Amino acid sequence: MTISHWLRPHQFTSPDMTADIVIVGSGYVGLSTAWWLSEYRPDLKIIVLDRSRLGAGASGRNAGFLTKGSASFYKKLHKQWGQESARKLFKFAEDSLSLVDQHILKSSPEIKFEKTNSLTLFQTEALKQSWEEESFRPGDYNFEWKSAEDLSSSLSSTFFGAYENSPEYKIDPFQLLSSLKKSLEARKIQVIENLSAFSITAEGVSTEINFIKCSQVILAMNGYLPQFHDAFKSIVRPYRAQMMAVELENDIDSSALHYDSPERVYWRKSSDKILLIGGKRILDEAGEVGDFDKISGTIQTGLEAYITEVLKVKFKVINRWSGIMGFTEHELPFVTKIQSPLEGYAIGGFSGHGMGFGFRSAQEMAQLVTGTISKTLFDELMPVKIKL
Ligand SMILES: Cc1cc2nc3c(=O)[nH]c(=O)nc-3n(C[C@H](O)[C@H](O)[C@H](O)COP(=O)(O)OP(=O)(O)OC[C@H]3O[C@@H](n4cnc5c(N)ncnc54)[C@H](O)[C@@H]3O)c2cc1C
Repeated sequence: MTISHWLRPHQFTSPDMTADIVIVGSGYVGLSTAWWLSEYRPDLKIIVLDRSRLGAGASGRNAGFLTKGSASFYKKLHKQWGQESARKLFKFAEDSLSLVDQHILKSSPEIKFEKTNSLTLFQTEALKQSWEEESFRPGDYNFEWKSAEDLSSSLSSTFFGAYENSPEYKIDPFQLLSSLKKSLEARKIQVIENLSAFSITAEGVSTEINFIKCSQVILAMNGYLPQFHDAFKSIVRPYRAQMMAVELENDIDSSALHYDSPERVYWRKSSDKILLIGGKRILDEAGEVGDFDKISGTIQTGLEAYITEVLKVKFKVINRWSGIMGFTEHELPFVTKIQSPLEGYAIGGFSGHGMGFGFRSAQEMAQLVTGTISKTLFDELMPVKIKL
C-alpha cells in the first residue's frame, strides 16, 4: 500500500540514500538473503525495504509449517523430475530447516517453535491405494507408513493411516521474521518498512519518496513480482490461500503437521485446543487467482465442513485470513541473475514452499551475488530468463 502526501507522518523527510545492495521485499526470503549476505560480506552496506509492515506478505500469514513438504509433494517432484532430483530437492529443504535451526532458532529464545513430524493422512485404504498407483517409494526419502493403531487416539478413529516424515518444525512465523530483522539490525543493516520500490534504473532503486543509489538489487517480492514488472507476468502466477484459526471444544491429541492431500487440507495445533487449518483451494481455483487479500466464503465454509465432518470436533472460529503465494509453472522457485538496467537478481516463485526452501535458497542467492557459485540448484533444474 502506498502512502499519500496527506497521510505521510508529520515532518517526514525523504533524503536520498546509498547502499551497495538493495533487497526489495522483507518477507522470510528477503530477510534471509540479507542475513546470508551479511554473513559472507559484513563489509557491504545492505538496505532491505518493504512496501508494507513486517509480515504483510505470505511469510506472516502461513500456518507456521517449517517443513520439507508432504508425501504428496515428494511424489509430485518424483513424477516430474525423477528420483534423483526429487531426493536432491528434499535434501535441499532438509538442509534449509537444519540451517535455520542452527543459525536462527537455537539462538533466538523469543521464537516459539517445536521440532515435530509431518503426517500425510489417508482417510481410507482405497484412497491410499489409488494415491499410490503413481510411483511413490516411501524409502526414497525416509517416509514411514503408520497404520491407524500407530496414530494418536484422535487420529486413529478417523484415519486409516499416514506417511510420516521428520524432523519438521512448528513455528510462529512472525516471531521468526522479527528475530531475523533484529539480528540484521544488530549487524547495522537497515530494514525499512512502508517504503515501496517502483522502478530500477542504472544507478539504483526508485521508491515512492526517494532514490536509493546502489550497485546491485535483489527482488524478493514473490507473489507480488508481476505487480512490480511485466517481465514476471509470464513467470509468476499469484494465488490466494485461505486460513482459519479455531478454538476446539475437545482437544485433538496430535502435535504433528498434518496434510490430508486428497482433501487438499493442512492443519496443526498451535496450542492446546487451538487449531490452524488451511487449503481447500480446489473449491474455487479460478476465484483464488489474484494478488490481493480477500476472504473467500466458499473456501472458508469448506474448511469448516472439514473440521466438522472429518475431524468431527465442535469449534468456534477465532480468526480468518488469506495470503498471497507466487506460483511458477513447475511449482519450483527461481533463484537467479536477471537482466536489468542495474546488476540484478530475483528470488521468488516459491509456489507454497517458501518456508521449506527459503533459508537455503537465500544462502544460494547470497553465494551467487558474492560470486562463490555461478549457478543455483533451481537454475540447473529449471532455468528462467528474466529481462526487465
Ligand atoms: C496461507 C499460506 C500457507 C502457507 N503454507 C506454507 C507451508 O506450509 N510451507 C511452506 O513452505 N510455505 C507455505 N506458504 C508459503 C510461504 O509462506 C511463502 O512461500 C513464503 O512466505 C514466501 O516468502 P517471501 O519472502 O518470498 O514472500 P513474502 O512473504 O510474500 O514477501 C514479499 C514481500 O515483498 C513486499 N513487496 C511487494 N512489492 C513490493 C514493492 N514494490 N516494494 C517493496 N516491497 C514490496 C511485500 O509487502 C512482502 O512483504 C504458505 C503461504 C500462505 C499464504
